[in-house]
Amino acid sequence: MVFNILTATTVILATILWVEIVRDSYHVLSHYWPPLYRLHIWHHRVFRPDLSPVSEEIYRKAHWYNDLPEALVMLTLSLLPGVILTVQNSPYSWVAWSGSIYTLTFLFGAIARGAGVPYADELTDLTHRQGDFTSLPAPWFVNRPYHWRHHFDNQKAYYCGTLTFVDKIMGTALSLKGKTIAVTGASGSLGLSLLKHLHLNGAKVIALTSQERILNIDIDDEEIPVKTLTWQVGKEAQLKDELDKIDILIINHGLNVHQGRSEAAIAQSYEVNTFSGWRLMELFFNTVQTNEDKVRKEVWVNTSEAEVNPAFSPLYELSKRTFGDLVTLRRLDAPCVVRKLILGPFKSNLNPIGVMSADWVAKQIVKGAKQDNRNIIVTINPMTFIAFPFKEFLQSLYFKIFTRSNQ
Ligand SMILES: [Zn+2]
Ligand SMILES: [Zn+2]
Repeated sequence: MVFNILTATTVILATILWVEIVRDSYHVLSHYWPPLYRLHIWHHRVFRPDLSPVSEEIYRKAHWYNDLPEALVMLTLSLLPGVILTVQNSPYSWVAWSGSIYTLTFLFGAIARGAGVPYADELTDLTHRQGDFTSLPAPWFVNRPYHWRHHFDNQKAYYCGTLTFVDKIMGTALSLKGKTIAVTGASGSLGLSLLKHLHLNGAKVIALTSQERILNIDIDDEEIPVKTLTWQVGKEAQLKDELDKIDILIINHGLNVHQGRSEAAIAQSYEVNTFSGWRLMELFFNTVQTNEDKVRKEVWVNTSEAEVNPAFSPLYELSKRTFGDLVTLRRLDAPCVVRKLILGPFKSNLNPIGVMSADWVAKQIVKGAKQDNRNIIVTINPMTFIAFPFKEFLQSLYFKIFTRSNQ
């Protein structure tokens, strides 16, 4: 009995996932195949950046030309699971039509909006409502802030309509194209590799470093100079005006005192690895003001695998863990997306015996971000993939229960 219910539920969910994959694939195709784009472009013509429709006439036309054909394609392909299971005489063939019933709600919604039925848009078109964004782009289900970016950030990304599954697979759940991205600790091995791979993904990169020289990145054996800003730990506030103009801030600077345990080693470790990064993050949060800021701006924090594993450098672990905990605490109320970079040992000046190359690690970080992973784990240690999400979930829950937001 329980088995039957479980199987039926799985079939229902699978058929719904199937029609959602059809919807998103149709949308992707619409952006690449001109005959479909001619219909789809009506959907992109409708809205102003505040999501108000340009005109009632274009709004209604867009539903006849885009939403209705899309729902009809979904409906046609939704019949496939039902037909297959019926042909196979499966006892679950009756639930395999669930995707079709689900699709009918979108078909009727599109017809109602096209016909101008009162309140049809309020009730059925939830991702195009106007007003302040009250949440951040959601990681698994498409919400208003998520979809807004398909219209006004990059039309060749954020294709998904309900579930973000297809965007995650395609690496279009975050677009870096045209974004201004600043990296601290930029002169280190990972910093330089990150600048390179972000640049290769169409970002405008800025190097933040304590060094008084212009940094170069190596693209196809050619040294390309990048915009370099010199700053010092403790003087984060001086970067305020620059942070205003930055879309994504990557906090990547760090210090390893190795065997040190003196008073100075403690102070220095916490100042560089914990408080400097935390101050930068808070300064950056203050620059998030508009709806556009809420969906374009992000902070990525390199807290390292030391959050859950020994790094054989106690003060490095202690200071990085504290920073990791502060990030977990503050991202409960963060005004923009905050990602953690949980990295295993890679070869650098801090760690000459690291196993992974900084270039490979940077490439994986960019890949993980484009899949919209909020915790990007790059390591060769399989335990981290289990230990970190577990620790992060419980820590976040604990902080949520025993602290209050003052927003
Ligand atoms: Zn839209
Ligand atoms: Zn589109």
